[in-house]
Amino acid sequence: VESDDEIGILADTFNNMASQLQMTLEEIKKSEALRREFVANVSHELRTPLTSIRSYAETLTENNDIPKQMEDDFLHVILGESERMTKIVQDLLELSRFDAGNTKLAIEQFSLETSVHDVSQAIALEAQKHGHRIGISLEKDFPEIFGDRARIEQVLLNILSNAVKYTPDGGAIDITGGRTGGRVWVKIKDTGIGIPEEDLSRIFDRFYRVDKARSRESGGTGLGLSIAREIVLRHGGDILIESAVGHGTTVTVVLPVEGPNREQA
Ligand code: ADP
Repeated sequence: VESDDEIGILADTFNNMASQLQMTLEEIKKSEALRREFVANVSHELRTPLTSIRSYAETLTENNDIPKQMEDDFLHVILGESERMTKIVQDLLELSRFDAGNTKLAIEQFSLETSVHDVSQAIALEAQKHGHRIGISLEKDFPEIFGDRARIEQVLLNILSNAVKYTPDGGAIDITGGRTGGRVWVKIKDTGIGIPEEDLSRIFDRFYRVDKARSRESGGTGLGLSIAREIVLRHGGDILIESAVGHGTTVTVVLPVEGPNREQA
């Protein structure tokens, strides 16, 4: 009887191992597919500005009688597209450092309230240009937190500049914040174009954009929210998005007051 038991246990163990192996294989296949898609995206995103740089540069070298104004315009495009490529490469490098776990957070205690005000100050001119009103309302017990101040501000700026970019002129952007137990939350709500339900789950994916042309026009790379998400997760926090097409979008960032635990930092 005892040996029957042992065989039974052995068989169970073997079955468990086999199904675990199967799962691991599926995960590898999935991540391999994602990696391929990512490389294809990177190539495409870099090729687009490169093609345009090349064709403008060719036109300039092949024609000696281009009017000065046109020449300036072409050079302007070349410069703009190179800047775009630089931005994409910088964002990719930052993401790959996160993937490799090579990003050290510089944790300090700081006033998130000051950060919220600084960031909204930084975007105020751009918002004004579009006739947007930015309101800030933080609860009284809004605490100081532990975190990487520069990176948290980068997250807030990214969300806020999306709110500005994807809201038709004359919109309202409301920043609210408060504390729930050991966590602080900041909500950035806009009255913009919104995000279709079917795109919401992919919005944090690298290079994912609802409207590529619109994002490109406003200097977007489609990497902003992916980076924001990495930063927030590394802090042991969470980032959530709700949206209704034609009504607006609300992005909520939740962070632990005490900062990331050791493993995360
Ligand atoms: P991008 O550089 O294109 O802005 P992000 O990663 O910051 O890239 O955002 C990804 C996409 O999510 C955007 O291209 C846009 O389609 C959508 N999006 C982000 N924020 C908003 C918002 N506040 N309102 C509407 N759409 C948004």
